[in-house]
Parts: sequence; structure tokens; C-alpha cells
Amino acid sequence: MDELQIFRTGVTAWLEANCPPSMRTPPGDGELVMSGSQVEFQSEDQRLWYERMRDKGWFAPGWPLDLGGGGLDAAHVRVLETEMTRLHCRPPQINLGIWMIGPVLLEFGTDEQKQTFLPPTARGKIGWCQGFSEPNAGSDLASLKMSAVQDEAGFVVNGSKIWTSHANHADYMYALVRSDNQAAKQQGISMLLIDMKSPGIEVRPIDLISGKSHFCQVFFDNVRVPAKNLVGALHGGWGVAKRLLQHERTAMSKFAELNMPGPDLVGVVRRACAGSEGRIANAVLRDKVAGLEMEAHVQRLTQQRIVEMAKARQDVFRAAATMKYQMAETEKRSAETMVAALGLQGLGWESEGFSPEELEVTRQWLNAKSLSIAGGSSEIQLNIIAKRVLGLPE
Ligand SMILES: Cc1cc2nc3c(=O)[nH]c(=O)nc-3n(C[C@H](O)[C@H](O)[C@H](O)COP(=O)(O)OP(=O)(O)OC[C@H]3O[C@@H](n4cnc5c(N)ncnc54)[C@H](O)[C@@H]3O)c2cc1C
Repeated sequence: MDELQIFRTGVTAWLEANCPPSMRTPPGDGELVMSGSQVEFQSEDQRLWYERMRDKGWFAPGWPLDLGGGGLDAAHVRVLETEMTRLHCRPPQINLGIWMIGPVLLEFGTDEQKQTFLPPTARGKIGWCQGFSEPNAGSDLASLKMSAVQDEAGFVVNGSKIWTSHANHADYMYALVRSDNQAAKQQGISMLLIDMKSPGIEVRPIDLISGKSHFCQVFFDNVRVPAKNLVGALHGGWGVAKRLLQHERTAMSKFAELNMPGPDLVGVVRRACAGSEGRIANAVLRDKVAGLEMEAHVQRLTQQRIVEMAKARQDVFRAAATMKYQMAETEKRSAETMVAALGLQGLGWESEGFSPEELEVTRQWLNAKSLSIAGGSSEIQLNIIAKRVLGLPE
């Protein structure tokens, strides 16, 4: 048995012994744990699973041991992820700090920033939110206007961020700010780490059509940020942000694989259109489900290929760039197929006359639309693929 196989056997045994059975079921609405200083548990099993994974360093399995991570390389992280998926283990916690700003601080952060922010993030004590989008800067992110004026102690920040997921629970925001008004737009941006308890910050939640709202608009009125919280070079935030967006898109492309909330495509369609011997009776739906399942399989193989390429130190950009787009579109079509299978029962909102699964399908269908917007819309992803992967002209 090779070393990776031995590791896999150990991981499987550990997960089977330590992941409570109730944490091996798809989480219901709002049942995933958001880590941070305001962490809350809805059950003892949820708390146990969280603490056991945290104590293994497996909130951030790929970070160095001395910074609170699990010290695993990409191949071993992938084994852990695939075993968790195979055994239907829920993610023990959700934190943008682990998927996005953490890897960026590992690459661009000062030693002080790494020591200050990474160990508590890896232990779930700091929850993060992302302050990139503004009311007039989404796809064209470099048009952002939130200003940061330097003084002797650091920066004074004024402006507003919008669509900030989980800002109402986060301890810190990593934010892009305009630090130079005169420079070309990409050259006048910096990245700051902002304590959400700073005086002058106001967070207002925004309601969504899916009924699930984790969105906020955040207002900054003369908010002071210490100079030591600048990430990378002053006015050099655009390069840092581009790297962070790569981490965001990679994380998002893995969502469909994780045991995230949401109904199961094959199960829903099979129950709605039961034919003989467990087949889906409707040939059109059967065809769609088979196609989506094959796509999901291809995506898993591509993900595996990306890991193998990374292991061999090959450039993974081209393969990784396609994944976010692909996953988002597949998820949308999967939700549409479930709604089609349920017919009018797939369009429920109030609980009367609809089963919990049917209501969940409706919400999933509405929610799936956000996947092709969040983290860069599908159109923007196609532009990136056209230009940077296929080398097509502007
Ligand atoms: C679930 C979710 C979570 C989010 N969380 C966060 C967060 O935590 N922090 C944060 O900062 N932001 C967050 N966002 C915001 C997200 O990053 C933006 O919504 C996204 O980048 C699109 O920007 P926009 O909404 O301003 O749309 P716009 O940029 O106004 O785009 C509108 C439409 O025009 C299309 N379009 C725009 N430019 C082009 C072009 N050049 N070529 C072709 N088509 C184009 C877009 O594809 C889109 O369909 C989140 C969004 C969602 C849906």
C-alpha cells in the first residue's frame, strides 16, 4: 500500500469514528455552522463534530501546523475531501477566512499578520466577510470607490460595500479600498483587514427572493484601520485581489461536491416520476438526469486532475478557470430539472400543501441562480476563459 493509501485508510477510520451519524445527513436550511466569535450550535452532535475537526487542524487542513492548520499537502487534502464527501460528512464549519483570505495571507501577509490572524481563523475564533462589491462596482470591480485616506496611524475609510455575505456575524472584513484617486483605476486599490467592531461601521441585512438571507450592505463612516492591517503593497491590492478571486472560484467550484444543504437530484426525480424497477418513468427527465450525473462525474474527475497537476507543479489555471462556470451552470440545470419533475409542486412557498422536500426544491432553484453571479458572474467567467484560456482576441 502506498503512503497516500495508508493515509486514506486512517482518514476513513477517523471520520467513521468521529463524525456523528446526524452530521452525515444533508444539512437543513441554516444548519451549517458559521465559525467566528459568534459561533452557535443547534445540537450537541454539531458541536462535537466542529470541535473534533478543529482539534485535528482540519478546518484548514492545508495550512502549516504552526499556524493552526493540518499541515497536509494538496494530495492529502484531496484525500480528506473525497473521503468526507464519500461518507457524506457535512463541512464542520463555514468561514471565508479559510477558503479565501487565509491562503492570501499565507502568500502576501506579513509575519505579524500571519501570526495574528491565521491561528485564530483556523480554530474558528475569527469569522470573515468579503468587502469587494459596491453599489456601482460588481463585475467591473476595479471601479470601486470606497476611499481609504492615509494618516500617521493608518487609514480612514469612508463608503459602502454591498452583497457582503455574513457581514452581520463576521469579526473581520477583508476589503478593497481606493487608496489613490489619481492613479489608473487598478493601480489605486489597496486591501485592508477591517475589524467589524470598529466605530463607524453599520451593517444592514438585505432580503433575498429565496427567503434565505445572508446578505448585507455595510456602511463606513470615518472608520480607522491601523497601517499594519494593509495586505501586500500600498496601492498593490489589485494583484492580491486577483489571487483571492482565484481561491474564491476554486472554493465555489467545490460547493456542489460538498455535502451542502439541498435536495438530491436523482432521489427527487425518481420519487416524483417513479417507473418500474426504480427507473425514472419520463424519458426526457431520465435523459436530463443521466446527463447531469455524467457532468457531475466529469467535474469530479477534473477536480482530481487539477490536484494531480498541482502535485506535479504544473499550471492549473486553465483547468481551474473552467470549473466555477461549469459547476454553477450544472447546479442551476439540476435545480431546474427537479422543479420540472415536481411540476406545480416544485413551486411552493408557504408550507400548506407542500412537503418539506418540495419547499426545499423551490428554494434550491431560486438559490442556484446566485451561483452564476457570486464570485464573478458566468458571463465574466466566459470572458476569462475566452481571453486567458483560449487566447481569443478582446
Ligand atoms: C450569493 C452571492 C454572494 C455574494 N457575496 C459577496 C460577498 O461576500 N462580498 C462581495 O464583495 N460581493 C459578493 N457578491 C456580489 C458579487 O460578487 C456580484 O454580484 C457579482 O460580481 C456581479 O456584480 P453585480 O451584481 O454588480 O452585477 P453587474 O456587474 O452589474 O452585472 C450585471 C449583469 O451584466 C453582466 N456583465 C457585466 N459586465 C459584463 C461584461 N464585461 N461582459 C459580459 N457580461 C457582463 C453580468 O454577467 C451580469 O449578468 C455576492 C453575490 C451573490 C449572488
